[in-house]
Amino acid sequence: MDFPLLEITDDTLAEQWLHKYFHPHGLHCPRCNTSVEQARRFRKTRRSHVTTYRCRHCDKLYTVYTGTLFANKHLRPTQVILLLRGICKGESTASLARELELAYDTVHHLRQQIQEKAQWRQPETPLLDAVTETDEMFQNAGEKRRKTQWSGGSPASSC
Ligand SMILES: [Zn+2]
Repeated sequence: MDFPLLEITDDTLAEQWLHKYFHPHGLHCPRCNTSVEQARRFRKTRRSHVTTYRCRHCDKLYTVYTGTLFANKHLRPTQVILLLRGICKGESTASLARELELAYDTVHHLRQQIQEKAQWRQPETPLLDAVTETDEMFQNAGEKRRKTQWSGGSPASSC
C-alpha cells in the first residue's frame, strides 16, 4: 500500500532539516564562502519549494542543494528526505517513485549515485570485533535480492 507522504509533510521544516544535515557547518556561498546569514533571500523555487539565496558579496545564487547530488533535480525537501530514508530502509525503487511522485528513472539514478557515494566513504579498516552480526552482513543487500526474498508480496508487507 502506498501512503500519501507528500500530503502530510512540511517542506519548510524539511528544508531546515536539510540545512542541518547537508551543511553541518552552515550553508555558505559556493563561490566566495560567505555565510548564508549574509545572503539575501531571493525567492522560493516554484518546483522544489526551497529558498534561493543571493550572496551579497558576489551575487551568486544558491540553494540548500547547491553542490549536492540533488542540485538541479527540482525535488522538494520532503521528497529528498523521504527518498534518503527509503533507500536506507531498502524500499524498492518502484515503491519510492510512486509514493514520492517521482519518475522511476529519477529514483533509480539517485539511488545509484547515493550508493556510490556511500561506498566511497566506507572505511578501509576492518571491524575491530571478531564476530559479525547478521544484519551487518546484509546491510548492503540490493533490490534484486530483496525481490527474490519476498517474491510473494511487497517488502512492506513483511514488517
Ligand atoms: Zn558569494
